[in-house]
Amino acid sequence: MITQRTDDPEKAARWLRAGDCVAFPTETVYGLGANALNADAVAKIFEAKDRPADNPLIVHVASVEQVERVAQNLSSAAWALLRAFSPGPLTCVVHKRDDVPNVTTAGLDTVGVRIPSLPVAQSFLTACAVPVAAPSANRSGRPSPTTWEAVRYDLDGRIRGILIGPQSPTGIESTVVDTTVDPPVVLRPGAVSVEEARRVVPELAMADSVEQQKRSPGTRHRHYAPDATVEIASADEATPGVDAAYLGLNRPTRSGSWGHIVLASNIPDYAARLYAALRKFDAEEMDRIVCEPVEPTGLGRALMDRVRRAAGHASGETPNDGAAGAGEAL
Ligand code: AMP
Ligand code: MG
Repeated sequence: MITQRTDDPEKAARWLRAGDCVAFPTETVYGLGANALNADAVAKIFEAKDRPADNPLIVHVASVEQVERVAQNLSSAAWALLRAFSPGPLTCVVHKRDDVPNVTTAGLDTVGVRIPSLPVAQSFLTACAVPVAAPSANRSGRPSPTTWEAVRYDLDGRIRGILIGPQSPTGIESTVVDTTVDPPVVLRPGAVSVEEARRVVPELAMADSVEQQKRSPGTRHRHYAPDATVEIASADEATPGVDAAYLGLNRPTRSGSWGHIVLASNIPDYAARLYAALRKFDAEEMDRIVCEPVEPTGLGRALMDRVRRAAGHASGETPNDGAAGAGEAL
């Protein structure tokens, strides 16, 4: 298959409506979209990505009013979260409608729904006029794509088209909240911080890693991993090397040369550059990538979750919080 490219959301939407997979930009990462109500189209997403069939997809719609095209019986907490953070990087897990095919939700009777805010994503979803199932547009296990070039690198020849847009400004995935339980539970930390979400739903709980792996199938699988080995070390502890790259906020202090150093100016900048840096360091054939840890609160919690998973940990949680024993099987 020849993968076509366009910067016209209408054209990309025509490919999707014809039953094909199309990658498109969002503020979090690029997604690989298909008509969420067409089982054959959704199956193409799993095939293109080599995605395990037990990993449910997030369904994207253009506005809060369209959530009920795939969902029913939303709780008041679900509506409150959607109204507060949509459009934006929040995914609400809600009860699915019967016409959402099993392949979209990996057989679950719930569905994750999100409304992206990036203007080109909004134009695309409006033009599609159907709910769009879309996981990240990478080969399964690889760092998520934050540029159209990263999508092309992973999926060229495997999908119908790429809608070209800007680099994803947030750079890490949405916060996934299960609102079908009381109190609602954060299944995946993301770009909406737990602290912000608790201002709307104060009783919001955090899933521990065992519960998370049971209820959010995607978190069981190996994720975000570059080819190089990823280490987590502070600026003072990071060991330099000509085949090593460093990514963090503070300049590494030990003497010796580095293959690459990428310094972010703050935590949002670090998050925005993480996946692109992991991919760039692979392209430069670095053996090791050292990531500086940050305080795991606010956006830092989601950032550290992704860094720990990139480093091969089965859970994004820090080691002393009960994650050990959750099973290192990725
Ligand atoms: P991705 O789109 O590949 O970044 O991953 C989507 C994430 O949302 C995965 O961790 C999924 O397990 C999670 N997810 C999507 N739908 C559901 C659902 N119905 N219930 C629980 N988790 C979900
Ligand atoms: Mg993904």
